[in-house]
Order: sequence, then C-alpha cells, then structure tokens
Amino acid sequence: MKQKIAVIGAGVIGLSVARNLALQGASVTLLEAATVGSGTSATSYAWVNSNGKSPDAYHALNVAGMNAHRLLQQQSQSQIRWLDECGTLEWAAEPSEVARLQKRVESLIAKGYAAIPVERKALAQSLPELILPAESVPIWSFPDESLLCPALFVAFLRSEAIQNGVTLLEHQRVTEIDEQASGVRLQLSNGSCWEGDIAVSAVGRWSASLLATVGVELAMVDADQPGHIGCSFLGHTSPAQIQLRANLITPDINIRPDGGGRLLLQVLDIDHQADPKHVPAVDGPVGREMMARLAQVMRNSAGVQLEQIVVGQRSRPADGLPAVGYVTDRKRVYVVATHSGMTLAPALGNLVAEDILTGSRPALLAEFSPERLIGRKASEFQEIETHHFPAAQ
Ligand SMILES: Cc1cc2nc3c(=O)[nH]c(=O)nc-3n(C[C@H](O)[C@H](O)[C@H](O)COP(=O)(O)OP(=O)(O)OC[C@H]3O[C@@H](n4cnc5c(N)ncnc54)[C@H](O)[C@@H]3O)c2cc1C
Repeated sequence: MKQKIAVIGAGVIGLSVARNLALQGASVTLLEAATVGSGTSATSYAWVNSNGKSPDAYHALNVAGMNAHRLLQQQSQSQIRWLDECGTLEWAAEPSEVARLQKRVESLIAKGYAAIPVERKALAQSLPELILPAESVPIWSFPDESLLCPALFVAFLRSEAIQNGVTLLEHQRVTEIDEQASGVRLQLSNGSCWEGDIAVSAVGRWSASLLATVGVELAMVDADQPGHIGCSFLGHTSPAQIQLRANLITPDINIRPDGGGRLLLQVLDIDHQADPKHVPAVDGPVGREMMARLAQVMRNSAGVQLEQIVVGQRSRPADGLPAVGYVTDRKRVYVVATHSGMTLAPALGNLVAEDILTGSRPALLAEFSPERLIGRKASEFQEIETHHFPAAQ
C-alpha cells in the first residue's frame, strides 16, 4: 500500500521533497501556512555553489545539489530556465583576504572543484562596465557555479509536484503534530485534521516552533532576531546599463543579475544592522551604502535606482549545517531544515525520498542527522564565523 505522507511547508525544500516522494510512489499532501514560495525562498541571493562549504560532507552535499540542478534543468520539459550556468567571478582586496581566497581556491581545486584564474583583458572586454581591481589582485572564475531564479524554480517544482499527484493545500497552517505508534495526526488551522503515516517538517526558519508541538526541541538560529547570522539585506535595483551575466563576489559587495538588466546587491559587512522588524527605506543609510559600493565596482551605475530593500531571514540550524532525518524514536516525524536550500533543494528532495521510502539512509546524509541539535538550545552552539565570508551563502 502507498505510504501516506504530509510535507509541511512549500518553500523550495518542501516542494522538492513532496515532488520526489510522489515520483517515488508515495501519496503526498503538501500543507502550506501561507502561499507557495512565500517564506525564505522569496528572499534569497540564490547562488548555486559549493564554494567554501565545510566540512567535506557538507561540500559533497552542495556539489550533489549543483549536479542535481544541472540534470533537472537539462531533463525538464519546461519552457523556462531557472538555472543560469553563468559562473562566479571573485577577488579579494586586503592582503590577508587575498591569501585566504588563494587558500580556499587551492583547497577547492584539490577536491576537483573548478577554479580558473581570469585573464583581465578578456574580462574587461566581456564586462566593459567593470572597474577592475588592482593589477596585483588575482581574479578567480568558478565556472561550474550558477545563479538561480527562485520564482521560476518554485513554479517548476510546484507544477511538477501537482502533475505527479501531490495534493497542495495553501493557507493551511499545521498548528500541532500528534505522533502515535500507528501514525501521525496534524491539526490544521481551519479546524480539520490530516492523518497518515509520516509527517515531514520542511518549514525552514519555523522548524523549532513546529517541532516543539511534538515535544522536540531543535536548536535553530532565531531569524526574527536582528544580526548577520540570521538575517541579510538584499537590494533590488532598477534596470541598469551594465552587461553583467556572471555572479560577482567582490571585497565590498556581491552583485548578481536579477532579470531584465536589474541587479541584486548584497553587502555582507552591514548585515549586523539587518532587522526584519525594521526594513530600511531605499534612500536611507543602508540603501546609500549599497549604491556607493556599486559605483565603486561598476561604471554606468549613476542612473541606477534602488527599488527595494528586503531583509532575508535564514533557515539555519544552530551549527550552520543541515538537519535531515527523523526527530522521534517512533520515526513518524522527519525534519529537513537547512541553509543553502537553493543549492541543496533538488539533491535533498531525492535523498529524503530515498531515506523515507526505502528505509536505507543515503551516504550523503550520514553526517546530517538532526540528533546533534535535539534537546539543545541555539546558545549552546558557537557562531560558525567560517560560514561568513564574502563567498558564504
Ligand atoms: C539573504 C539570503 C541569501 C541566501 N542566499 C543563498 C544562496 O546564495 N544560495 C543558496 O543555496 N541558498 C541561499 N539562501 C538560503 C535559501 O534561500 C534557503 O535555504 C531556502 O530558501 C530555504 O527554503 P525552505 O523551503 O527550507 O524554507 P522556506 O522557503 O521558508 O519555506 C518554508 C515554508 O513553510 C511554511 N510554514 C511555516 N510554518 C508552517 C506551518 N506551521 N504549517 C504549514 N506551513 C508552514 C512557510 O509559510 C514557508 O512557505 C539564502 C537565504 C537568505 C535569507
């Protein structure tokens, strides 16, 4: 008989898990408190990469995510491309940062990850608006990295999930999980219940509060608190006359194309001011700083307007690494909570479906059992600063 499974949360992770569970034969209901893709998945830089992801098991999982995206896009019948295999260009400025980048590049190359020094003349020709950094500074290209359009990726996953038989219910908040030996029962905000075999929590930054209803304490970063670990500013510009296709990671600003000539800006060293309760106006100090930094890197940016600043709130287990697996001894409640979800979604969808439906734990998930976070508070974990340098997403 088909396993009856509820996936809670329809961000990129829940959509991908639901799609894969249905493809592999489960009867799946996807329950979303608001609308599809309206959580963290709507406010992401969406750079598909494994650049500086440690430890090795996390690097391998992110590489699997990059490969899964490429394959999914290639095999897709959809008209749209959510994945642009445009690569990343990165450089540093301060000598200590140049040395740090060099070390990271060497370590990536040793793992078989593509990193190529960039020829400045060719770059100046292909991106004439770029103000090149000092001659002494090496520029690196990571050609296998991509940029993703979250709205299009969500659209693809949503239609695929539905075509494969997933029942999608929006505006249905799960208010309580009740686990029994024989099954699991979910209380929904409209007063009704869902009953079945397994519930998968894919509610991102809301994971700790949802799992608390089944008596599980999961150490997650509180993304409602201001600060750079849980939050990050993203600035959306008007169309710019700048011929940028790649992802640019520079010492003072990250810049990516955002469709139709628009740019998406991120300035990580001001993120300590990011507070989801106080979203800055575009003409305030945060916006002015973003535009000043853009002007230091790009010619022709004088007429560009900042149209919107958003404060992205991360879904981040307290040690920075994914939490994927059962959270109870009866194995009826499963969690998938992770940062870097844009990169990881297609690989995690496959791996989670395999784990649940075959009962055999895929090797790529071996290090990511949620056990290490259960019964613990986020304050017991040290902030992982290595996850916070310009290339850490
Ligand atoms: C500023 C920023 C930059 C980022 N940059 C990158 C990057 O460059 N590369 C990368 O790979 N990743 C990046 N990420 C991370 C990535 O965006 C996230 O990991 C991913 O979007 C998380 O998806 P999710 O499905 O887990 O969560 P969400 O998208 O938040 O989805 C969870 C869903 O659960 C629903 N929900 C919550 N509670 C309930 C409930 N009780 N019942 C039912 N539904 C519920 C919510 O409404 C929401 O729709 C970035 C994140 C941020 C904030």
